[in-house]
Amino acid sequence: SDSPRSNAQEEKILVSIRLRPLNEREITNNDVSDWDCINNTTILFKNSASERTNSPTAYSFDRVFGGDCSTRQVYEEAARSVALSVVSGINSSIFAYGQTSSGKTYTMSGITEHTIADIYDYVEKNTSRQFKLKFSAMEIYNEAVRDLLSSDNTPLRLLDDPERGTVVEKLTEITLKDRNHLKELLSVCEAQRKIGETALNEMSSRSHQILRLTVESSPCEYNRFENSANLTASVNFVDLAGSERASQTMSAGARLKEGCHINRSLLTLGTVIRKLSKGRNGHVPYRDSKLTRILQNSLGGNARTAIICTMSPAHSHVEQSRNTLLFASCAK
Ligand code: ADP
Ligand code: MG
Repeated sequence: SDSPRSNAQEEKILVSIRLRPLNEREITNNDVSDWDCINNTTILFKNSASERTNSPTAYSFDRVFGGDCSTRQVYEEAARSVALSVVSGINSSIFAYGQTSSGKTYTMSGITEHTIADIYDYVEKNTSRQFKLKFSAMEIYNEAVRDLLSSDNTPLRLLDDPERGTVVEKLTEITLKDRNHLKELLSVCEAQRKIGETALNEMSSRSHQILRLTVESSPCEYNRFENSANLTASVNFVDLAGSERASQTMSAGARLKEGCHINRSLLTLGTVIRKLSKGRNGHVPYRDSKLTRILQNSLGGNARTAIICTMSPAHSHVEQSRNTLLFASCAK
């Protein structure tokens, strides 16, 4: 087959685990850590003698980060190379997956900031090309897509464009003025998310947030020979709904409906990632959820993907932590 696809086949999804420290509440409750990061690729279950001896005790991934690792270190080793491919015209997605309160937002917001700083450093040093950076932000809740840069809460439609693939209709896209502009826009997003939260408690644990940075570049006048192509690519920072939503049976009514919908995007993402990690023979069901439709161009094909699975070390969360490790193992 043609070369971009066969290259992509060799490009595996980068899968990492980040264990956060025990928090105040867990310490107060005399909760203990079940897990040890024995080196930078292996995480070990410590209490195998006491229970569930049928479950694996050691899990290996591309990178494993313990509670003492900084977000900068996580960024540099588990996300940077994937995120920065955007300046060479390659689409990418960085995901944070894990149960609520495991550190998804903490990790993803740090990664977003480090990426934008590195991209601006690169752009300012590169005098042979001209760059334009654009930012957009959306949230998927109950399979409805909302613009986080607009106060209009009307759900946005997805359209199929023959050239660009799935397009989010009327999504606000803002050209960044400088490296500080993004910080302003992130607080706009945060405020938009909060508005939703007052209407429905815990919304952030039930919705997916996608922040998208698009980099366009063209060669400067004097540099037409070196690399004459105009390039456009996006990097997506995806803060997923709490993974407990994919495994818990919701009780009744609205909660059930909500649970089902969140299951759809998270479960479809799981299926898509599993298929991609096994090579691309057969059908990849991108179209089964809004999340995977929106990310289709940045997931598989030429695109690069990194998944950071966040975990609480607490014994009281052991079932969810095992589910997270299972998801991560399937993505390898
Ligand atoms: P999630 O988005 O998965 O629900 P958060 O990112 O909001 O979880 O994290 C829950 C809490 O734990 C927050 O107060 C956050 O600051 C803290 N936290 C998460 N990860 C870490 C970490 N690696 N080190 C220190 N504090 C953390
Ligand atoms: Mg969060």
